[in-house]
Amino acid sequence: MKAYLDHVGIAVGDLDRALAFYRDALGLDVVATEEVASQAVRAHFVAAGAAALELLEPTAADSVIARYLEKRGPGLHHITLRVDDLQAALAQLKAHGVRLVDERPRPGAEGALVAFIHPASAHGVLVELKQRPEQGPDLAVKSTAIGDLRVTMLHDGPFRLDGGAMFGVVPRTLWEKRSPPDDRNRIQLALRPLLVEGEFGRLLVDCGAGDKMPAKQRDIFALDRSRALDQALGEIGLTAADIDVVLATHLHFDHFGGATAAARGALVPRFPNARYRIRAAEWEDATHPHERNRASYLQEDFVPLKEAGVVDFYDGDQAIVPGVRVVRTGGHTAQHQVVYLESGGRTAVFVADLIPVLSHVQDPWIMGYDLFPMETLAFKKRFIREAIDREHLILFEHDPHVAAGYIRERDGTRVVEQVL
Ligand SMILES: [Zn+2]
Repeated sequence: MKAYLDHVGIAVGDLDRALAFYRDALGLDVVATEEVASQAVRAHFVAAGAAALELLEPTAADSVIARYLEKRGPGLHHITLRVDDLQAALAQLKAHGVRLVDERPRPGAEGALVAFIHPASAHGVLVELKQRPEQGPDLAVKSTAIGDLRVTMLHDGPFRLDGGAMFGVVPRTLWEKRSPPDDRNRIQLALRPLLVEGEFGRLLVDCGAGDKMPAKQRDIFALDRSRALDQALGEIGLTAADIDVVLATHLHFDHFGGATAAARGALVPRFPNARYRIRAAEWEDATHPHERNRASYLQEDFVPLKEAGVVDFYDGDQAIVPGVRVVRTGGHTAQHQVVYLESGGRTAVFVADLIPVLSHVQDPWIMGYDLFPMETLAFKKRFIREAIDREHLILFEHDPHVAAGYIRERDGTRVVEQVL
């Protein structure tokens, strides 16, 4: 089991005197105060590196902390260790004969699960175990209509990328509240391929990360394949064989890894009846990677498609099928593109890595992954202005909670009004 020190709980009888030491003399910041009514306790969290100090102040005479103070005076009350799987941790402890106060997890503050270990088993220290609230992405399959086009946001399971890389020059103190990082500094993301159905048939835009990744890489990206694209297609009564056209926004593994699959020791097209539409210049870049983008362009994701003769290359911005048009943005990769869906006077845009998660609707929030960030900035400024003015529905491939929404401006700040 892996455990991380979350915080140290200190019972205080006189909060002002405690603050005079921890805040004023030591110079630490009180970052949050929380009232726990059920325990008759007010908890003041003091930042101390990766962990925190929790000053516990009783709010009633019958509070557990009040009784503790009476018996022992102020001092160390408990330590809290964070674990990934509390249920498993308790089972392991039980198997080792450890005496538990809580035999099973119970709800704690902020949606976390907690359980206490008896001090008799922990050498006189009261130990609390804590599991953070689940921050999994929304994996529901959601549909809407844009004129005559049926638009479905699918999913290819959850995954995680480094939070710092996702927000470029934006400091962690600003992004961590919107995208809480895990113990490996990764933030939760979605992989949402887009299905467009019309008279032309069924077009898939991007196809997730797929199933070819070795265990080590799957672990790095927290790729959970227990709920993936085949299941999402199944939920709307389809299989990979029902897809007629597969379109790529760009050829990075988290967008096009699902284009090929391993079968009988060979790599084959994952969608057996589909033509694959790939921008020729993106193919050129992807098949000639350099040191900066080599980890993102995995040759096994696309080279087998050409060998199988199922790729149709094209140059420049154009309609792929009626109502579906690609527009190059550059920025993220030189040939990265967004996909416009236009029908019945309405417009939706699948923005891929131009606006990966909602936070990126702010102009300076640009990924560290982008090869040409100033290009991203220039395109995004124009694009968002137009999206607000013309009420374009924005389709988000990576946001963990919002699959589609309208960008609005309220008192000078941009917000996203969720639709799907
Ligand atoms: Zn991406």
